[in-house]
Amino acid sequence: MRVVIAGAGFGGLELATLLSEGAPEDVDVVLIDRADSFVFGYSKLDVMFGRATLDAVRLPYTAIDKPAVRFVQETITAIDPQARRVTTDAGAHEGDAVVVALGADYDRAATPGLAEHGDEFYSVDGAARLTEKLHSFSAGRIVIGVCKAPYKCPPAPSETALLLHDALTARGVRNDCEIEIVMPLPAPVPPSPDTSAALLAAFAERGIRYTPSHAVTSLRERVAVLDDGSERPFELFLGVPVHRAPDVVIASGMTTDGYIPVNSQTLATEWPGVYAFGDVATVGVPKAGTFAEGAARVVAASLLATIHGGQQPPPYDGRASCWIEFGGGRVGRVDIDFLSGPEKTGTLREPSTALVEEKEHFGSSRRSRWFGL
Ligand SMILES: Cc1cc2nc3c(=O)[nH]c(=O)nc-3n(C[C@H](O)[C@H](O)[C@H](O)COP(=O)(O)OP(=O)(O)OC[C@H]3O[C@@H](n4cnc5c(N)ncnc54)[C@H](O)[C@@H]3O)c2cc1C
Repeated sequence: MRVVIAGAGFGGLELATLLSEGAPEDVDVVLIDRADSFVFGYSKLDVMFGRATLDAVRLPYTAIDKPAVRFVQETITAIDPQARRVTTDAGAHEGDAVVVALGADYDRAATPGLAEHGDEFYSVDGAARLTEKLHSFSAGRIVIGVCKAPYKCPPAPSETALLLHDALTARGVRNDCEIEIVMPLPAPVPPSPDTSAALLAAFAERGIRYTPSHAVTSLRERVAVLDDGSERPFELFLGVPVHRAPDVVIASGMTTDGYIPVNSQTLATEWPGVYAFGDVATVGVPKAGTFAEGAARVVAASLLATIHGGQQPPPYDGRASCWIEFGGGRVGRVDIDFLSGPEKTGTLREPSTALVEEKEHFGSSRRSRWFGL
């Protein structure tokens, strides 16, 4: 079976790995990405706060050495789901199965003034630009502002506020700074009241102002404007830009309301043999790497069942864990279940240093599984 995987992010890497492990003789995978390396989402926080260098967090695709998998560094310029064809700047790839795992792009222009007057920390370059700015920031108001939902990793703005508190405290300037988070969600982690309560308590202890249920809609010089017209003056704006599917996905005609609709149990699109998951799709789960990985497992099991003539796998359960930086050298974990039961649930494991190690293990295990590093 020839499988074309568009996008070597969380989902694409897991799928390529499982297909290689499960049918090295019977599958031919082409894995396409325009980038030369993968960076974990959470590594952007490490870079921004100077805990790691960009070089240290980049995982080069040239390291991928798996039976039946060929990585190509090409930019995808068109997707034809009917023909199961992915066209790139270097040619065309046709598959018995095509999997779209191209993630979400940022639409900075959707928020007037963001590019001129604010910073964003959601891209690798944006996070890297902030390292020096944060390191030299010594007084004033910092607004961490989300421009629209949905956005990747809903806890990330909260983590940023808590790590920022630590960084400013360590440099002895916290009392000269104010931190505020503005987010459109009604709570820091809506499916988990316990996690939200723990984060709200952590904000309160640290004097971090929290404004839920509002988005930042525009910026002028040193002022963020919210969707109710209220204003937040700032000296530093750390933004989460509006997200949307990459242009090439929208141009393919596969999207509805900005993302690719899929059967949330099978991740199949309306085109036979074409799947989509992760941030590019509307699966009914949060936009986070661990969810993309779980969805990839279901698609891998389904393709392997087709290859080997076995039973199709059980439906995708929408369960995943997210590790959350709580500051003070502690990490919490929320175990989320979006699809397996009648209600969405989220259970908190209290922040601890043991969970710091667990998070590290999560990263290093993927590094070794996906890249052999
Ligand atoms: C600050 C921050 C912190 C985060 N923390 C966490 C966390 O702790 N845990 C967690 O689970 N998730 C976290 N995330 C979210 C996580 O990074 C994403 O949800 C995850 O990467 C989505 O996986 P994906 O496979 O859908 O897409 P991605 O991993 O985004 O992969 C998509 C790939 O497609 C490629 N691509 C796009 N367009 C093209 C094109 N035209 N041609 C070729 N290639 C293309 C991109 O280069 C990219 O490699 C965080 C995100 C951020 C921003």
